[in-house]
Amino acid sequence: MQPNISHKPGLYIHIPFCEKKCGYCDFYSVTDRSSRSAFLQALNTEFTLVRKMLTPQEPFDTVYFGGGTPSLLTATEVETILKQLAENFFLSDDVEITLEANPGTIGDDTFKDFRSAGINRLSIGIQSFNDAELRFLGRIHDTAQAEQTIRSAQNAGFENFSLDLIFAQPGQTLQSWERSLKKALSFGPAHISAYNLVFEKGTPFFTLLQNKTITAQSEKSEIRFWETTRNILTEADFPPYEVSSFARASQFFSRHNVKYWTHTPYLGFGPSAHSFWNNHRWSRPRSVSAYISALNENRLPEAQTEILSAKTLEFEHIFLSLRMYRGLNLNEFERIFKTLFTEKYASEYALLRRRGWAVEENGFFKLTPKGMIICDTILQEFYRP
Ligand code: SF4
Repeated sequence: MQPNISHKPGLYIHIPFCEKKCGYCDFYSVTDRSSRSAFLQALNTEFTLVRKMLTPQEPFDTVYFGGGTPSLLTATEVETILKQLAENFFLSDDVEITLEANPGTIGDDTFKDFRSAGINRLSIGIQSFNDAELRFLGRIHDTAQAEQTIRSAQNAGFENFSLDLIFAQPGQTLQSWERSLKKALSFGPAHISAYNLVFEKGTPFFTLLQNKTITAQSEKSEIRFWETTRNILTEADFPPYEVSSFARASQFFSRHNVKYWTHTPYLGFGPSAHSFWNNHRWSRPRSVSAYISALNENRLPEAQTEILSAKTLEFEHIFLSLRMYRGLNLNEFERIFKTLFTEKYASEYALLRRRGWAVEENGFFKLTPKGMIICDTILQEFYRP
């Protein structure tokens, strides 16, 4: 079976609505859903305006409904969006169509309707199987609802589903984290995303941390969480393929997310969505109302546009490739950047190998599990201002 990696472009749709904001969350979303129908109309206008602007050479082979909480949409709305997308962009026959779903927002039969609408992969935001932790995170669901949601997805015939979990929460014990991981495995998912809790600036958790109402786990303890995660999942035949991503088999890699880590073009739609196309990166404003007003006037709302310099592209290529366990393809690097990685970065290459943080294997330079744990620090070494 081939790993689920492709260089065809992808499509991302940001659904900017949530039932309630979680204290740690930095993604753009609002709880007021009164602009929902205006938003859906604006989304379709955005599809047509972007299509007029670009001439994609290849079919798109992923559609990813992220957010926010896309499972707040009805199956009919999802079906309409997919139809509008297909009217504007050529989708491949084997297109992977993922929907992020949150327990507490979805009825037992809704998954069947999403399946009929065309969704063939789910990413379910479980975060923890511990009720106290779920309350702390500000989630709207409890463990029983999380379990019921997974069972409903399975009853609807979804085999390709991912479970999202968060570790290193303040006060969380390793035992509790192990229980959550093992519980997640007991449902036989295809994929698990395990994220280290990050205190993003501007979130309520960041303020709580600043005023010392909560205490973050120490660096040492975070490393223990990482190691436990990797050990438990690897023993269960769920090897990591990216820092936070684990799959039962390579055909269950998130084809869409892999595009972000391989500099593959993608188009993002909806407030706050980012796009990467022909070495340009642009984003939409983090405001539903600004998004809707611009599109009502038949113009594209742009927050930021950046043309990536050769230097930035090279750094990003290294940074993103090394976050994946397969690592950086040395021949590909030479072909793209017309220079030998092992010569240009000779000192970093030697240092990382000497410390046991990286190895070269079959033409790939890759971080070891030990290196992966501290990858954010290591990867900055490759930055050449
Ligand atoms: S449900 Fe997801 S997107 Fe919405 S606030 Fe919580 S973490 Fe953020």
